[in-house]
Amino acid sequence: MRVLVVNAGSSSLKCQLIETDGKVSLMKCLAEKVGKDDAYMSISFAPDFQKSTYSVSGLSVPECLKRLLDILVDDPESPISGLGQIDAIGNRIVAGGEYFSKAALIDEAAREKLDLCEDLAPLHNPPADACIDMMRSIMPDTPQVAVFDTAFHTTMPPKAYVYPLPMEYYEKYKIRRYGAHGTSHRYAAQQAANLLGRPLRDLGLITCHLGNGGSITAVNHGKSIDTSMGFTPLEGLMMGTRSGSIDPAILTYIMRREGISFDEMDSVLNRESGILGVSGVSADMRDVLDAVKAGNEQAELAIDMYVYRIQKTIGGYYAAMTRTDAVVMTAGIGENSAELRERIFDGLAHMGMILDKKRNDVTGEIGVNRIISIDDSPIKICVVTTDEEMRIARETSDLVSQMM
Ligand code: AMP
Repeated sequence: MRVLVVNAGSSSLKCQLIETDGKVSLMKCLAEKVGKDDAYMSISFAPDFQKSTYSVSGLSVPECLKRLLDILVDDPESPISGLGQIDAIGNRIVAGGEYFSKAALIDEAAREKLDLCEDLAPLHNPPADACIDMMRSIMPDTPQVAVFDTAFHTTMPPKAYVYPLPMEYYEKYKIRRYGAHGTSHRYAAQQAANLLGRPLRDLGLITCHLGNGGSITAVNHGKSIDTSMGFTPLEGLMMGTRSGSIDPAILTYIMRREGISFDEMDSVLNRESGILGVSGVSADMRDVLDAVKAGNEQAELAIDMYVYRIQKTIGGYYAAMTRTDAVVMTAGIGENSAELRERIFDGLAHMGMILDKKRNDVTGEIGVNRIISIDDSPIKICVVTTDEEMRIARETSDLVSQMM
């Protein structure tokens, strides 16, 4: 099945055309700085993925998607010559609230429920919904599926998802913890079970998605029982530009002292904090590790804090589960940074997570998952390669096949 995966953000659009039978990508597209004058879109086609770049200045996210469709039909290098050759559309949706516990075919009822989720991710859900509507208007007969970042975490028990606030806010506004990166945690858990050669339902796993955003999930017998992101993807770990969890009283204190607005404070927490805010160097982990090597003390502090918060979260989830068989590392930093993995697990050997430094140092090939703990480590450490668009394509084709 040929699935167009649409991953719409507030100012970006990532798409892939994926042939799910052979698990191959036929087209990749990335639009960035959408809404700004210097917005651009790069598109590349299999097999060599040579990028062509187009200006998309002044276009909205759904208008960029429409432009991509026009190029897909017109470009002689394109793997398709008509939109009828796209069998299904898989949309990544950040927040599904309490309405969606798994991927859903978008019919009238599902589309109405999506409207009710917009407030939960005001930056991400509205452009994704607008893309769904645009695609429905020009390809009304092509099935569309919504794949939710939150769906995997709907198994969390109330003690994990209710905030210690007056219950009226949960009842009135559904303020609770929803988590995120669910598709990635689910996939990482399943891949780790395959690596360990045991059924997922028998295992206790701690999955660590460490990329630009970061979250850790306790996966007990295949189900998410707790996760570090909360009502929004701001809670939990220290991230590239996000603060993660801090004392909430700091917000009102800074706002009063600096005289800044809610929106400005929101921007400080989401865009100017985390690794970038503490290091003063960059949000990109590679730049910060380079700065550490050059002797930058702020960068060293940022890395120390980043690692410490991950260690504490892993320790907390060890306590939350009835058993822990493995810790699973995935996403940009988790997959690629042997140095950070070593720093994290140096502090966790006493819990039975014992890294094999040689295995850790080997850079894995894309798509090759592996165990990097010593043979008799009581708790195994795994590295799993994530591919969000491929997973969305798989979930979409599975659901659409069931309907046919
Ligand atoms: P993601 O959001 O999953 O694409 O991950 C992006 C993050 O992964 C950025 O902070 C990158 O600096 C980081 N990253 C990618 N490769 C490496 C590497 N070899 N070493 C350290 N960090 C890396």
